[in-house]
This record gives sequence, C-alpha cells and structure tokens, in this order.
Amino acid sequence: MTQAYDPGNIFAKILRGEIPSHRVYEDDAVVAFMDVMPQGIGHTLVVPKAPSRNILDADPATFGPLFAVVQKVAVAVKKAFNADGVTLLQFNEPASGQTVYHLHVHVVPRFEGVPLKPHSGQMEKPEVLAENAGKIRAALGS
Ligand code: AMP
Repeated sequence: MTQAYDPGNIFAKILRGEIPSHRVYEDDAVVAFMDVMPQGIGHTLVVPKAPSRNILDADPATFGPLFAVVQKVAVAVKKAFNADGVTLLQFNEPASGQTVYHLHVHVVPRFEGVPLKPHSGQMEKPEVLAENAGKIRAALGS
C-alpha cells in the first residue's frame, strides 16, 4: 500500500523556505531549483507546491501548472547551456528509483554523445550550482 504524504520531506522544507535551494523559478503553484546531485550540467527540479508523494496520488489539477513550468524550464536550460536536447525524468515510489517523496520532474539538458551521470550520485559545489542557476534565470527572463 502507498504511504501517506510526509510534510517533513526535504522538498516540502525547501518549499517552506526552511532549507536553502538555488531557485530559478517560482509562481503561485510551482517552484524550480537546481538538483544538488546533478546528472548533468543544468539539472533542474520542477516541483508543484501542492502536496503529493508522486504522480500516483497527485490531484490531476496539479499537472497543468506543473508541466507548463516543465516546458518553460526545458526551453530555458536548452538555451542556457546550448544543449542538443533535454531529458525529463520522473520517479514514483522506491521501486522506480524515487528518493524524495514530494512530486517532482527532473529536467536535464543533454549533449550528443554525453551519457547521464548516476541518479543521486555526487554533490555539486554550491558555487557551480549558483552559477548555473544564474544562467537558467537569465534564459527564463528573456
Ligand atoms: P528522485 O529519485 O526523483 O526522488 O530524486 C530526488 C532528487 O533530489 C535527486 O536527484 C537528488 O539529487 C535531489 N536532491 C536531494 N536533496 C536535494 C536538495 N536538498 N536540494 C536539491 N536537490 C536535492
């Protein structure tokens, strides 16, 4: 049986401003920030403010605003890093690889011939994340 949503999860804390993140976008319904263990340069997480563990228990009304921002961020990261493409990843429950139980979509710029790094692999330096976040914010603003 699927567990209940836990408001103590790390993304809920980020949404409440209790722990820091490198934010690139925020509106009434959605926040986007840098993944601290990126699978490639510019790896961004797009997170709805509405609480759900994942796609299995989310209110369908969540997906419109969420995917509107996923598209905005995908276009922005492709531009910011001059990428060849963009991969979206989204995991549901431990068997799928989910590690943080608040619905989110991974947006990862891709480059011809460059494989993704492992999921939840190495921590990136904060200054690198800050620089990349600045590039994405600039691309979103233009
Ligand atoms: P998932 O397996 O889809 O639940 O992935 C969770 C993602 O969150 C992983 O890619 C982690 O690198 C990332 N992550 C974990 N903690 C943080 C954090 N504090 N700030 C940003 N990203 C995080």
